[in-house]
Formats: sequence, C-alpha cells, structure tokens
Amino acid sequence: MNQTLDPIKPCPDSSGEPRPALRNPLAGHALYLDIDGTILDLAPSPEAVEVPVWMVPLLQQLSGKLDGAVAFVSGRTIAAIDHLFRPLTFPAVGVHGGEVRTADGEIVIDRQLSEQLQAAEPLLQQAIARIRGVQLENKRSVIALHYRSVPERGREVLKIAELVASGLGSQFGVLMGKCVVEIRPRHLTKGSAIRQLMERAPFRDRIPIFAGDDTTDEDAFEVVNGLGGISLRVGEEIPTAAKFRLATPDQLRSWLLEVAAA
Ligand SMILES: [Mg+2]
Repeated sequence: MNQTLDPIKPCPDSSGEPRPALRNPLAGHALYLDIDGTILDLAPSPEAVEVPVWMVPLLQQLSGKLDGAVAFVSGRTIAAIDHLFRPLTFPAVGVHGGEVRTADGEIVIDRQLSEQLQAAEPLLQQAIARIRGVQLENKRSVIALHYRSVPERGREVLKIAELVASGLGSQFGVLMGKCVVEIRPRHLTKGSAIRQLMERAPFRDRIPIFAGDDTTDEDAFEVVNGLGGISLRVGEEIPTAAKFRLATPDQLRSWLLEVAAA
C-alpha cells in the first residue's frame, strides 16, 4: 500500500502550508498518538493542558474508522491519560513504554523492575530536596524528576538521575524529555511498546502511523520506519528520525479532522 501522506517539505515558519496531503483513506492503518506537544498544546504543567471539546468525539470517530486501532503513546500514566480523555479508554502506552494497555484492557508492566525502582525513591527524594522547584513523580514503573520551573538546574537533576540509575544496575537507564528526567527500565520504550501492540489485534497487519514531538519519541519513529509505517514529528525543524513533519499541534489536529471526515 502506498503511503497516505506526502513527504512534508521543510517549513521554516508555521505560516506556510506544511500539512500533509491525504491521498488514500485511513483504512488499513493503525494510529499511534503522543499527547503533550503533539495532539495537545504544551502547557506550563501537565495538569494545565487543554483538551478541545471536539477532541474526544474526533478520537472516537477515528477509532471507529480504524476498527479500534488507535492508541495513545505518552509519558503520562495510563490512569492520567484516561482522566484527560474521559470517557475514552483506548489502548495506550503509558510512561514512555513502562506500561501498555492492550485492546482487551490488559495492562502489561514489568513488575520486578518496578519494585526494584521503588526502592530507590527515598534516595531520590533526599537528593532533590536541596534543589528547590524540582518535583518527583512516582509513576510506579518509572520515576520522573520535573524541573520545568527551574530549567537552569537541569544538568544537576540529570546527574542525580544518572547516579541513581547506575546504582540500580544495567537494566535501568535515564530518559530526558522536555524539562523532565526519568529513571526507567532501559528496554521499555515507546518503540518497544508500539512493537508489542503491533503484534496484537486490532493493530496487527496494519500500517502504523505515529505522531510525536519529543526526543522521547525518536525510538518510536525508528520502530515505525522499520515497520514500513509513517513517522510524523510535530515541531520545529531539527534532526529527527521522523519522515514527516508538521509545525504545530494545531496543524496535526487539522489533519486528523481531515482524515476523520474523508
Ligand atoms: Mg510529547
């Protein structure tokens, strides 16, 4: 099957017309959507994001068109994703691959590594106590350190995370996002989670489309490219594995509205 999107020309500013042209209906595809900075505009804090009122109906419509092959792929927990898009309970990848919910509702996590990680929380709390403005978020299979309100302390926060991760052993690593550092099982990524979902109904035998915006989405772009799918990055032009680009979440939302109506 041909790709449904035209390659997106570099767009130096968002005033251009970088939206991909729709060639074929969406049928035969599976849609994987990052949330923050991709389908929703970034906000000063994860709680402050706004979900347009038509977003849930749009996602329902897309899911109906694709026989349920629409999944969220986020750094948020699955519980937080459900809250944000209630009443939807789509298949979902939470905490950058640390948890996966399949279409039948089963939640897959690595319990052993999750327990190992929990043991490191007191040490982390202690280490960040001297950096005012840094917040620890325990997502069970991942521990995140947010430093959005003190971006100048990012290097220090990273150092702490790296030290704690190396103390936990080689199965753990550090992942940097936008003003957040995560300590997490190294092998669980957005890419590995998409691969996992692609083995199951209703995603199996479909062409994946993944839209993301962050460095934490790069491995998923590569997995989707490897599966012959469509990788789409939202944001300014920077080196990326994604083959397509849209400048803003607004442009992606317009595209989703367009393909839902096609
Ligand atoms: Mg994002």
